Formats: sequence, structure tokens, C-alpha cells
Amino acid sequence: MPGVASPLSMPTPRRLTPPFLRQLAGDPLGLGRAAQSAHSASLTARTRTADRVVQSICPYCAVGCGQKVYVKDEKVIQIEGDPDSPISRGRLCPKGSATEMLVNSPMRETQVKYRRPGAADWEHISLEQATDMIADRVIKAREDTWEEETDDGEPLKRTLGMHFLGGATLDSEENYLIKKFFTAMGALSIENQARI
Ligand code: SF4
Repeated sequence: MPGVASPLSMPTPRRLTPPFLRQLAGDPLGLGRAAQSAHSASLTARTRTADRVVQSICPYCAVGCGQKVYVKDEKVIQIEGDPDSPISRGRLCPKGSATEMLVNSPMRETQVKYRRPGAADWEHISLEQATDMIADRVIKAREDTWEEETDDGEPLKRTLGMHFLGGATLDSEENYLIKKFFTAMGALSIENQARI
């Protein structure tokens, strides 16, 4: 706590003084050094040891609360609410408060998993292979379901064979590109579960 002397650094007689008397000696609300234990004085917040702090937005829902991402040795060590955000003014809901786990959880999937038709187990494939497989399916679905015009000859130039449903972990820039990309391919069903 800034400006609060550590009880450990206090002369011994001061540490032995009852809290109420310590409170009378310059800490009337009892929220600072009068209430601080030797143990709490020895603790250091993870945010204090960060190399840098990056402003970001919570990835989970459309409220878009502001976050501060604390980085040490190029790794995320903590994520907290950003008091400068006009939307959330430093607050995060329980889910947003746990965003650090999205980055550092040992259960986080970092490889592409694929389950072949009829298979019972998942297998790991490379990102390149997965991207090629998705591209092949998109091209085929578009070709198979393309509608050039109506029965009356009115232009349609669309496909109802492809749909996109995004999630809250997509940021605004990704959603912008996805909307442009799918619209350019003639898709109509483009949605995100976190839209405002
Ligand atoms: S999930 Fe919670 S913290 Fe994140 S943007 Fe939504 S309300 Fe804010």
C-alpha cells in the first residue's frame, strides 16, 4: 500500500502496541498501517512485479469491459479491470476476472483436434492441414449450393449452404473481417452470439 510503513520496519515497541492505540497515532480509519499485519506487509501483488501493462478488452461478451494485462518476461501474469474504461470503470464480472486462466490454464487447447468420420478418438493435426481441409469444404459447399438467380431470372448470387456463428472470444477486428469475407462469398447467415 503506497505510503504505508511496514509493521516489520516499525520499531518493536510500535509493533507491540495494540491496534486501537496505533489507530489513534495517525491512522484514524484503521485502514492502513494500524491494521496491517507483519504477514500482509511481506506480500507483494503480482501486478507490482510486471514489466509492462497493456490495455485490452475482455474477450467474453459484448459489454466490452476494459482490462489491464500485466506482462512479465513476455508472459501474461495477471489481468484486471481497467479504471480508465468508460464502460466498466475498473470492474469485471467473475468471468472477466478469471480471464488470466484463458491464457495460462494447463487445460487450454493449443493444437488442432480432428475426429475422422466414424472414429471414436480425436487426433492432432497440423494447423496447415486443418486450414486446407476447411478451405476445401468451404469451396465445395459454395459450389454445390450457389444460387445465381431466381426462377424468374432475378439475380440472387448467394449461397444458403454456408453459415457462420462467431463467439465472444472474437474481437471487433476479427468479426469485421469475418463479416466481409463471408458476405463476399455470398453467405447470408452470419451471426455472433455476443453482438449488441
Ligand atoms: S464477460 Fe464480464 S467482464 Fe467480460 S465484458 Fe462481459 S460483463 Fe465485462
